[in-house]
Amino acid sequence: MQAGAQARPRSRSGGRDSRRRLVVIGNGMAGARAVEEILARGGAEQFSITMFGDEPYGNYNRIMLSHVLSGEESDADIFLNPLSWYQDNGITLHAGVRADRIDRFAKHVFSSDGRVTPYDTLIIATGSRSHLPPMDGLYTPGGSVKPGVFGFRTIDDTRKMAAYAQQEHHRHAVVIGGGLLGLEAAAGLRSFGLGVDVVHSGGHLMSAQMGPDGGAVLRRSVEALGIGVLTGCRTTAVLGRDRVTGVSLRGRPDIGCDMVVVAAGIRPNVDLAVLSGLPVERAIVVDDSLRVQDEDDIYAVGECVQHRGEVYGLVAPLWEQAVVLANHVTGTDTGSAYLGSRTATKLKVAGVEVASMGLHGPELETDEHIVFSEPSRGVFKSIVVRDNKMVGATLLGDSRKVAYLTQAFDRGLPLPEERLGLMFDLGTPGEETGVAELDDEAQVCNCNGVSKKDLVGAVKGGCSSVSGAMDATRAGKGCGSCKLLVRQVVEWAADGAVEEDPAAAYYVPGVPLDKQALMAEIRARGLRSVSAVFQALAPGGAEDAKSKMGLASLLKMMLGDRYIDERDARFINDRVHANIQRDGTFSVVPQMKGGVTSVQQLRRIADVAEKHNVPLIKLTGGQRIDLLGIRKEDLPQVWADLDMPSGYAYGKSFRTVKTCVGKDFCRYGTGDSTKLGIEIESRFQGLEAPAKLKLAVSGCPRNCAESLVKDVGVVAVEGGRWEIYVGGAAGAHIRKGDLLATVDDPDEVKVLTGRFMQYYREQANWLERTYAFVPRVGIEHLRAVIVEDSEGIAGRLDEAMQASVDSYVDPWRERDDPQTPGQFRTSLPLTVLPQVPVR
Ligand SMILES: Cc1cc2nc3c(=O)[nH]c(=O)nc-3n(C[C@H](O)[C@H](O)[C@H](O)COP(=O)(O)OP(=O)(O)OC[C@H]3O[C@@H](n4cnc5c(N)ncnc54)[C@H](O)[C@@H]3O)c2cc1C
Ligand code: SF4
Repeated sequence: MQAGAQARPRSRSGGRDSRRRLVVIGNGMAGARAVEEILARGGAEQFSITMFGDEPYGNYNRIMLSHVLSGEESDADIFLNPLSWYQDNGITLHAGVRADRIDRFAKHVFSSDGRVTPYDTLIIATGSRSHLPPMDGLYTPGGSVKPGVFGFRTIDDTRKMAAYAQQEHHRHAVVIGGGLLGLEAAAGLRSFGLGVDVVHSGGHLMSAQMGPDGGAVLRRSVEALGIGVLTGCRTTAVLGRDRVTGVSLRGRPDIGCDMVVVAAGIRPNVDLAVLSGLPVERAIVVDDSLRVQDEDDIYAVGECVQHRGEVYGLVAPLWEQAVVLANHVTGTDTGSAYLGSRTATKLKVAGVEVASMGLHGPELETDEHIVFSEPSRGVFKSIVVRDNKMVGATLLGDSRKVAYLTQAFDRGLPLPEERLGLMFDLGTPGEETGVAELDDEAQVCNCNGVSKKDLVGAVKGGCSSVSGAMDATRAGKGCGSCKLLVRQVVEWAADGAVEEDPAAAYYVPGVPLDKQALMAEIRARGLRSVSAVFQALAPGGAEDAKSKMGLASLLKMMLGDRYIDERDARFINDRVHANIQRDGTFSVVPQMKGGVTSVQQLRRIADVAEKHNVPLIKLTGGQRIDLLGIRKEDLPQVWADLDMPSGYAYGKSFRTVKTCVGKDFCRYGTGDSTKLGIEIESRFQGLEAPAKLKLAVSGCPRNCAESLVKDVGVVAVEGGRWEIYVGGAAGAHIRKGDLLATVDDPDEVKVLTGRFMQYYREQANWLERTYAFVPRVGIEHLRAVIVEDSEGIAGRLDEAMQASVDSYVDPWRERDDPQTPGQFRTSLPLTVLPQVPVR
């Protein structure tokens, strides 16, 4: 025993500390939450707190690991309590230290660093670990897990998995387990470009949460992500001597693979409890006050707990447990009792909304079962009603009614006679009324355990914006699937007095400045790279992954060739200058100015398509030729063989000018639309912009090039004149452009087009297409600034545009000189190409 182990610690003021000693084993979601609840009840006055966590970090949101794996979040962003939180609250954290044993009689905790820590009250929150089911070949002869086999539980697991998936020669992964975790892992690995198969022993995916019909719809949605699914299938062995080379399946052919992720369930971490003589069945047995059975001073909370025979594997029950535990430990409400949780799961699994509660299907003959299925949209809804009470529901792909249904399930709300109204807004309360009717205790955010009451409290306490209430309560900061509901509750609680969120005006979320202020700071400080902008202007200099692309685009626009390019600030399409497709291959669209090509170009394209076995050659909507199904590692060679410049089919940039044949050939033509289109394209090729820019030039008002629905559309009219339209669209959004000006000659078209684009580049929000920008600022304003030069900035806009035009470099030149070693690294599965169908 270390000297002084028995001594009471000194208080923060330096005197002998008279507080009781609270020791918490496990620094995961439940342990840290229990401590937060204790602190909220004045626990810092009562206890000196010591925590042990065998992960060498502060406390993080485990739920978000799926987002980290898929690259949506960086691992730095998922910390709930950083190390400074422990310091600020006077908590001693032994991070990276494992508690090995408890002496319940002497009241000591023995830990892996040789320390002996006395306690007056102990909380065990050791959570669970991944379960590796018995199968051959999981371990090396030395007894360690075979390289290439992963569990999916911790930040370290996630980092290792991501690093392994990115290694050049790793192309295919098998995920064992088709539950929540397995599907999340599969979707994450898919985003690295790996081929992925999910092997699930159940008859359908997520068999613990839904019935076979819902499972079938989910399967379609998962397969649409390019993930293979094998159900009713067991893995019997992991193949490979020193590292994974495949898996064997019972009754089916082996699958070759480079990595295996085991997501086949979890097992509570109870070794410490067993070793210390605590009552353990499936997990540590606790009573309704979360006290360990037959113990006075030991509590347990979270996934390591068995309460009334139940062991939970989701966070919502942990929050409820933490509240009751804190009430007892601090003595604030010794009458409070945890009576178990009804788990309504509301999740986003691999991008698909899933909500599930109670029964999956009818069990009694008298049960009513209402089912709606629309597999092509990935929507499935099933509701089970017994004795006019809702006893189960599964919602896939559309969880808008989930708040009402959860209430109906939890509290036995009266059901509409028209049962369809349970699924759609017919007779049941609409979303607004639904919010008003929600019970105070109704859990709005499952990830962070935030109830309607908490949100209302935040609003009443002065948080008058949605993001303010989210920050104060953490609602919506987990998987994000509740954000809509959070907004509705906040709006309802504020009774229409919701303040505009200042962050809504930021150009990018990570830097608290609007675009003009940001540009002014960048100029004033001479910033030239994305990292320099973060360093100088982000709070605490913190980098924010979601802000990088917008900043990169802005800097490039402002600085041209003075911009210092950092590749991690780019999206995959911009890193490899090609458009990533659903199956992980890329599509290559060479430049074809104005839609005009030549015999030589066509021959070259045909030769390239033949040489590289291009599975699909397709004409695009912008009059170009698209070669689809190119592997990432083949891109440089394809570009070299084509020897044509990039057509920018992938970028947030100027893309193409569609033209009609115009007056040389067409009987109606009044202007040389082809020539003007080519000139415009030559001038503005590759120009960086807040969103993509598609242009067109038509030779007469018949508009065969569809100029009225382009970002900039030019139409020849009688008398050799040209009309310029801006802000048109014909994609997901349809809008006829507004007439900016009618001019006399093609050169004027080029000047005004350039000036408009430069103004748009400087003023528009990140990702704001012209169809939103033009109505926002107003065509009269645009006309005044761009045509009439009312602000005296026309000359500056023209110069800035000219500077950008002058700094143009064809990105496909990088074929000879990759920017990073991995830029064109292999990223495809070993499965047979093409996966893009050949027609
Ligand atoms: C990838 C992923 C996605 C998930 N998604 C969702 C979701 O969408 N919704 C949902 O509700 N739930 C989800 N979950 C489950 C959720 O994360 C858990 O329910 C929750 O983390 C359990 O909290 P806990 O504190 O009991 O355990 P944990 O968070 O695992 O914490 C236990 C901690 O104790 C440590 N520990 C164990 N033994 C010792 C010891 N002897 N000494 C010191 N430290 C020890 C462990 O290393 C761990 O850090 C997900 C889980 C994962 C892994
Ligand atoms: S827009 Fe007019 S000029 Fe151009 S092809 Fe159509 S009809 Fe002919």
